[in-house]
Amino acid sequence: MDAPVPFSRRVAVLGATGSIGSSALDVIARHSDQLRATVLAAGSNVPALVALCRSHRPDHAVIADPARYAELRDALADAGLSAIQAHAGEAALDALVAGQACDTVVAAIVGAAGLSSTLAAARAGKRLLLANKESLVLAGALVIAAAQASGADIVPIDSEHNAIFQCLGSRQAGAQVRRIILTASGGPFRGRSRASLETVTVAQAVAHPKWSMGPKISVDSATLMNKGLELIEAAHLFDVGRERLDVLVHPQSLVHSLVDFIDGSTLAQLGLPDMRTALSVGLGWPQRLESGVGGLDLLAHGRLDFEAPDMEAFPCLRLAWEALAAGGAAPAVLNAANESAVSAFLQGRIGFLAIPALVEDALAAHAHAPAETLEALLAADGLARRFSQDWIHRTTGHAVSA
Ligand code: NAD
Ligand code: MG
Repeated sequence: MDAPVPFSRRVAVLGATGSIGSSALDVIARHSDQLRATVLAAGSNVPALVALCRSHRPDHAVIADPARYAELRDALADAGLSAIQAHAGEAALDALVAGQACDTVVAAIVGAAGLSSTLAAARAGKRLLLANKESLVLAGALVIAAAQASGADIVPIDSEHNAIFQCLGSRQAGAQVRRIILTASGGPFRGRSRASLETVTVAQAVAHPKWSMGPKISVDSATLMNKGLELIEAAHLFDVGRERLDVLVHPQSLVHSLVDFIDGSTLAQLGLPDMRTALSVGLGWPQRLESGVGGLDLLAHGRLDFEAPDMEAFPCLRLAWEALAAGGAAPAVLNAANESAVSAFLQGRIGFLAIPALVEDALAAHAHAPAETLEALLAADGLARRFSQDWIHRTTGHAVSA
């Protein structure tokens, strides 16, 4: 490997108060000579954002909820942090992401709410550490085209896509790749029958056996929608069709994905399940940075198992395959309906099996909506969200009266 070349990056961490955000800040703090968090952004939790400002001393703090601007400004002043500029709202965030405040962006907002800032970073030619997979599912072609036009480097942060990126050495799968295999832990309900999932609770669904993550992606891992979103994400990131994508369940979560080449070689990336590895790759690439993650002791782990995913028990994975094949607005509708369903499930309004049922109905109703432009995709997203709210209302109304 080449000798390390000095570099410095000014990093905007979007979704700073979340699981990925805190892992990113952990890695950044380990390399204060090379990395600095200059922008911290969060959704609505002002005290958590101010606590991060106290430790990381960014130049800018952004809260998504415009109603909380004064609260953020005053809390920063009370903490003796008036030098940090307070901002609120999506437009302010997009302007900071696109401007001089940063050269690198960790896109770790959860859900389609992350699309606008992801696109702003892609258009502005930033190094884009992309964790927000929903923006690729909703508008992947536009994000990739914007990055291509501006010269923005996208480094995938999802562990599977980061593994594939490492195996390829780039985002170009090209003609020499026979197949890309995404591994899946199988989530907390691996091995269960569909019928037995009828009554699972929120607490059971978010208790992931291997990864510690935010609530939305934890539920997506339990339904296997996460792997479905990741198939669509991989198709965009590596420019491969569904015929060259595959999913393998690997409960130990040590092999993060594999790439088959035409010569019969298979490369895989292995490591402990800790997102700081992927974030270090994104922050340092092509250099390797110390991440705080220990080495892998395969003897101690003993074995690596693999099995086929159960599409009957976990229909979300099938629905995502179908949405990928259908193209157009189908992935946007899949994503929006899933966000609505997961949110309702987390609030205890619908059951676990209602998640795939709602997504399937939303796809049947709106998968053929126009999808040529960003506006059309956002309209499809909105249609699917309204459809989902009506669906949830009808279902919960029925459940209450039953
Ligand atoms: P999380 O729920 O822990 O954190 C979400 C962050 O987004 C929080 O900081 C929250 O304040 C912020 N946020 C929420 N709504 C917002 C809005 N409207 N505007 C601005 N900020 C908003 O989620 P997470 O687990 O860190 O996941 C973040 C993203 O990374 C998701 O897209 C997820 O799929 C992806 N991802 C996460 C992991 C993981 O291990 N956690 C792994 C791979 C990919
Ligand atoms: Mg993943």
